[in-house]
Amino acid sequence: MAALAPLSRESIPAFDALVAGGVTADVRKGTIRIGFTDGEDTTGLEHEFAAARDAGQHVPYRTSTGHEPPFSARVQQIVHLDGQRFVAPGPFLDALAGSLRERGGEIVEGAQVRSIGFGPGGLQVDTWSGAPHRADAVVLATGAWLPDLARRLGVRAPVQAGRGYSCSIPLAKPITAPVYLPGVRVAMTPYGDRVRVAGTMEIADRDTPFDHRRLDAILRSIRPLIDGADWTDVRDHWVGARPLTPDGLPLIGRTKLEGVHVAGGHGMRGITFGPATGKLLARQLMTGTDAPDLAPFHPLRTG
Ligand SMILES: Cc1cc2nc3c(=O)[nH]c(=O)nc-3n(C[C@H](O)[C@H](O)[C@H](O)COP(=O)(O)OP(=O)(O)OC[C@H]3O[C@@H](n4cnc5c(N)ncnc54)[C@H](O)[C@@H]3O)c2cc1C
Repeated sequence: MAALAPLSRESIPAFDALVAGGVTADVRKGTIRIGFTDGEDTTGLEHEFAAARDAGQHVPYRTSTGHEPPFSARVQQIVHLDGQRFVAPGPFLDALAGSLRERGGEIVEGAQVRSIGFGPGGLQVDTWSGAPHRADAVVLATGAWLPDLARRLGVRAPVQAGRGYSCSIPLAKPITAPVYLPGVRVAMTPYGDRVRVAGTMEIADRDTPFDHRRLDAILRSIRPLIDGADWTDVRDHWVGARPLTPDGLPLIGRTKLEGVHVAGGHGMRGITFGPATGKLLARQLMTGTDAPDLAPFHPLRTG
């Protein structure tokens, strides 16, 4: 928690900086509501909030009792976490890509990187298709696939896929900010005129095919806890691999190969910490001075 606090403090300002800098992403402000049923209590969550505060984070929350949509009458206690931001991840990435292209950047879609190393003209990235790409600097950010290329760069930490599933459903009364149900570990976020439902931590090979039973289990778990959903209109089925590290800390910084860096291993927080990671790593790359806030995430750490 202490190691992550500086990244956490930087995370919302980093999103706001992207928008202020011209990235046309729909980054919304809101209060996240966390719902508890009668048999559950808030002690675990409040303990976590206390630890975050002890680590120097600002955690503005309050609790209320009573019934509030979209929760069903079974949810009677709600923790309101104020001052949050939320995004729809797909459109957010599209906005980032659009901004990069507008500024003269090139995205080579579908290219599978094979190796990173030194060629005749200096640092070069080889793909399975097309000519090698020459580079002044490389940032390897291949998520749960990171070890495939990073191991040869001295990065020993394994990265395990913690697969999560999501889909969208319509709600009779749309929500304007995310809600979370810690008892079943499922979150719901506004998604156009629908909501995106996400959950599950499936420890499996990163490329395992989509398992419908996992998504069905998520929907079954929230059905008694959410009112006004059309459970027959389930769309946007998706599975993704959260890149998990053994010590729960991301891998950000230089590798043993001069000019090659990694940014990954953020587990359940890769969207939250992505912009802050980019900002701190870019500064480190451009100045050549290691950022003290990134020290705990050194990719060459052992143990
Ligand atoms: C259901 C679900 C809900 C989530 N909810 C949240 C949330 O609420 N908040 C939050 O902060 N995070 C959340 N996460 C976690 C977040 O999605 C991840 O932490 C984040 O996507 C990791 O980003 P990344 O760029 O490191 O990896 P990825 O997003 O996995 O991107 C890596 C990319 O590299 C590509 N790649 C791999 N190997 C190669 C190669 N050799 N050549 C070229 N390309 C390659 C992959 O195809 C992939 O596109 C959630 C994840 C899931 C699954």
